[in-house]
Amino acid sequence: MAESKGEQPTAIKPRVLPWHTQPIEQLKQAWATQRLSHALLLQGAEGIGKRELAAWIAAAVLCDRSSGAELRHCRECTSCKLIEAGSHPDLLWVRPEEDKQQISIDQLRAAAERLSKTSYRQGYKVAIVEPAHQMTPGAANSLLKTLEEPSKATVIILISSRPSSLLPTVRSRCQKLTIAGPSPAQALEWIQQQTGREVTSDVLEFAGHAPLKALEQVESGFDALNEQMQKSLGALLQNRADVTQVAAEWADDRLNDRLNWLDLWLQSLARAALAGTAEFITFPTRPVPLPSSSRTLNISGVYSLVDRARALKAQLVRTALQRELAVASWLFALLDLVVPPPAPNQRDTPVTRSR
Ligand SMILES: [Zn+2]
Repeated sequence: MAESKGEQPTAIKPRVLPWHTQPIEQLKQAWATQRLSHALLLQGAEGIGKRELAAWIAAAVLCDRSSGAELRHCRECTSCKLIEAGSHPDLLWVRPEEDKQQISIDQLRAAAERLSKTSYRQGYKVAIVEPAHQMTPGAANSLLKTLEEPSKATVIILISSRPSSLLPTVRSRCQKLTIAGPSPAQALEWIQQQTGREVTSDVLEFAGHAPLKALEQVESGFDALNEQMQKSLGALLQNRADVTQVAAEWADDRLNDRLNWLDLWLQSLARAALAGTAEFITFPTRPVPLPSSSRTLNISGVYSLVDRARALKAQLVRTALQRELAVASWLFALLDLVVPPPAPNQRDTPVTRSR
């Protein structure tokens, strides 16, 4: 769920989310008083729509009807239509190239050259650099030069979820817009509006409290996954299902999501074990019944299972059978951790766990 590379950057459409109202108001005022900076830094957590907001700002700055006092995105003029089609000649997205982690100096130089030329549509030129904290030091220095000697009628928008990783000199030359995400209640309400479905806070936690990611998750069937994980895990822990059965069920194309789910669940268990109370089990909201109290869990054992789940994610390309075996081995380790050992006088009672 990292910021993805390689997708068509021009496909990002302007979108105003309810929690963008305040920064947009700020921008409109700056525009009306002709104090919109030639460099903006949109900073805030991942998954709250900074890119969509940057696309909106670009669209509004370029909109044929944004003259004079009002900054707007009319959606109807030629410029807005070009934005919608992802082919506006005066809008430039600068992102890491496919298979690259960082934005190179060459990309920044090419952008600076384009910004220094006349606009194609006799208006503004806009460049969006994202994620700005992924510029190489050379690229950042090259950008700094552009920021120090801005061309006329240009706006550069930097997007970053880690603004403290930017060069301080770059940061100080930008007008900062801090985008705050919604409260959990606002996020859930928004997701419900978008999907017409009741959602629990599980999906927010699963998406790291990033509403756009949470929405994607709801749309790709998170509820069913969540339900199924709780059901099969519960059955396994209560000895109603065996390891091979559950491993076969989990080793499908959603294994990565399942491992993320287990990661959160185990971290929630570890918190409860540390605090000595099951109240700290926050994920999922309807707790999976444990065979023994969370208080008795071996915390380093829980974290080693988390590590193993993360290591498994790196091996998802293996064959289905290999994945199934790896999941089975992980499940045995889980049972060792959470199922209390039989009391000495009950050694002969069956704890059906074949290896
Ligand atoms: Zn327009």
